Amino acid sequence: MRIVPLAADSMGARSMCTLVETEDCSILIDPNVRLGPHRYGLPPHPSEKRRRAELWRGIRDKAKRAKVFTVSHYHYDHHNPDAPSMFRGKIALLKDHKKKTNTNQGNRGRRFANKIRKYAKEVAIADGQEFEFGRTKVLFSEPVVHGVNDRMGYVIEVCVREGRTAFVHTSDIVGGCMRDQIDFIVEQNPRTVLMDGALSYMMGVYGKENMELSQRNIVRLFEETDLRTFMIDHHLLRERKWMERIPLVFESAKKHGVKVLTCAGYVGRSDELLEARRKDLFGKRKRRSIRS
Ligand SMILES: [Zn+2]
Ligand SMILES: [Zn+2]
Repeated sequence: MRIVPLAADSMGARSMCTLVETEDCSILIDPNVRLGPHRYGLPPHPSEKRRRAELWRGIRDKAKRAKVFTVSHYHYDHHNPDAPSMFRGKIALLKDHKKKTNTNQGNRGRRFANKIRKYAKEVAIADGQEFEFGRTKVLFSEPVVHGVNDRMGYVIEVCVREGRTAFVHTSDIVGGCMRDQIDFIVEQNPRTVLMDGALSYMMGVYGKENMELSQRNIVRLFEETDLRTFMIDHHLLRERKWMERIPLVFESAKKHGVKVLTCAGYVGRSDELLEARRKDLFGKRKRRSIRS
């Protein structure tokens, strides 16, 4: 199994888009990439816009060889309603937009399904379902809350299994504070996980208790599974000092021999937290223009 994160916050824009290739099939998870519209009261910097465009080109390119596309929920960093034709000839496994959702995402999901139906070879609801492609199994969790309550709706986690090797992509469980979000991962006993981290850049909303809980639940993964590689990205990578937020995770990873990486690190790139550096990006531009 080959796991290739194609876009992520650690690569400079908001996304968790990942390509998973097995002997039998290639699966593209959550194909889109977006920019945080407002951060530090600033719009996206031109360098972020360039990066988004570059990452999107990469997704479009890799999408050609994927047979299956999955969508975990209807936030725009996880699906792209403006590019429905990329679903041409594909099997689309989608989060149910009628059940376990909120009004906003329900409406977006309905419109999205209608758009891609024209192009896709097959469209199926994925919540709690298992699909087989040769010897590759693609299993989705029942809907779990987006974060720590249902205000932001629900997401579905996905496990791709080939033989004894499994990979879990959690989508937006926002640090994994809820029991059922973590239970699904433990049940799959994956070798590799990609999890979105805690909302540490909005501690006022998220809270210290959840930060603690998120860490304890990640440690539970290390203790109760044979996990070897733990990728953490997305929300947590929206601040530069993200490593300082999860000391318990690093400590436990060391003990259990788990490698903790960002998506950028996994593909051999350095982390480029452009959104977290937005203030600096604009600041530098200003200083340069004064000098010239
Ligand atoms: Zn989301
Ligand atoms: Zn997201």
